[in-house]
Amino acid sequence: MNYSEMTKEQLLNEKSALEKQYEDYKAMNLKLDMSRGKPSTEQLNISSRILDILTSTSDCSTEKGFDCRNYGLMDGITEIKPIFAQMMQVDPDMIMVGGNSSLNMMFDTISLFMTKSPVEGEKPWLEVKNRKFLCPAPGYDRHFGITEYFGFEMITIPMTSEGPDMDMVEKLVAEDDSIKGIWCVPKYSNPQGITYSDETVKRFANLNPKAKDFRIFWDDAYCVHDVTETPDKLISLMDECKKTGKTDLPIIFCSTSKITFPGSGVAAMAADENNMKVIKEKYKYQTISFDKVNMLRHILFFKDIDGVKAHMDKHKSILKPKFDIVLKHLKESVGPTGVATWFEPNGGYFVAVDVMEGTAKKVVELCKEAGVVLTGAGATYPYGNDPKDSNIRIAPSYPTLDELEKAMEIFCVATKLAAVNKILE
Ligand code: PLP
Repeated sequence: MNYSEMTKEQLLNEKSALEKQYEDYKAMNLKLDMSRGKPSTEQLNISSRILDILTSTSDCSTEKGFDCRNYGLMDGITEIKPIFAQMMQVDPDMIMVGGNSSLNMMFDTISLFMTKSPVEGEKPWLEVKNRKFLCPAPGYDRHFGITEYFGFEMITIPMTSEGPDMDMVEKLVAEDDSIKGIWCVPKYSNPQGITYSDETVKRFANLNPKAKDFRIFWDDAYCVHDVTETPDKLISLMDECKKTGKTDLPIIFCSTSKITFPGSGVAAMAADENNMKVIKEKYKYQTISFDKVNMLRHILFFKDIDGVKAHMDKHKSILKPKFDIVLKHLKESVGPTGVATWFEPNGGYFVAVDVMEGTAKKVVELCKEAGVVLTGAGATYPYGNDPKDSNIRIAPSYPTLDELEKAMEIFCVATKLAAVNKILE
């Protein structure tokens, strides 16, 4: 029954029933983790062949005869570029392949613009004392961490079911030239699993920022990460920018972290010629070349984008039952009470739940005391501050199915218990 329709007596009964359930779970001394978006061992195992795809007698040459074991090819081996180009929906010549982490490339890019603006004649961002960055939230805590580290004031942009609130984005960037960028996870956003609508992408491609060096940090981390048979479609930001003549706006990132091995995958970024010139000018001093042997392993493993897609189907078959468990518990246990809302994502790595306002921290605490670790409440907002204390990110990939069932039972009891206590306050 919906809690808002319950009498005080009914609520008190519900409270004691929930407290009893909660104490029973606590007595089980469980140790479950739904905190970070890490692939499970089963998922890592499907990529294991990549470890012995090259042996000491393998030919490590590219098609053009370049020996990947040696220095050179600073922007990556040519063969891997078409794969990333199709993942990020750009031309292969816009790609720079990097090291093992896209987050690292994002950090590097902001760091670069701190000392050298992407636009000739503009002040480096370090000299813009009141520099600001737009942060659609809930969002990815590590994005916010980068801009906090570099001293940006972070402005929260609310997320809608179609992506960031574009009315707000358009207005703010048109008015204030100290706003230098925006973080975006356009497909299966972390944590809500929202894919930006065609209209949102088109509005991004048509932005009129006052700052000439405003850039869209388009983190396409989940571009091929469908978990259902009805995947979302994201249109190409770069294609839209070509139509509006604003190809300088986006800088696009992705990696194979959640395709092969996080921390040992391959990352890439894409940008138009002008941005790429500034970016490569810096990398030229930063490194002689990245890990081309790992790039070669990935090429031999996947061959082409169809190989990536077939591989992602294997991830899907492991992940889908986990997402199903999370959604089943939310629907059956929390749904009827009306105390939380959530999106049902078609992909990505998370389910974001908005519990009753003012109870997220309590829910996380209750779960912790019962042995279930969740991402800290507030982590999905700039400065770790969720003004409504409502959003909680659930990461279902790592636990086993049995662990997830238990963890979700506890999460649901904690969500309802915190809500009932709040109502009765
Ligand atoms: N971007 C998003 C949106 C993520 O969720 C993650 C990892 O959770 C990353 C980037 C990290 O990517 P990488 O391993 O390539 O640094």
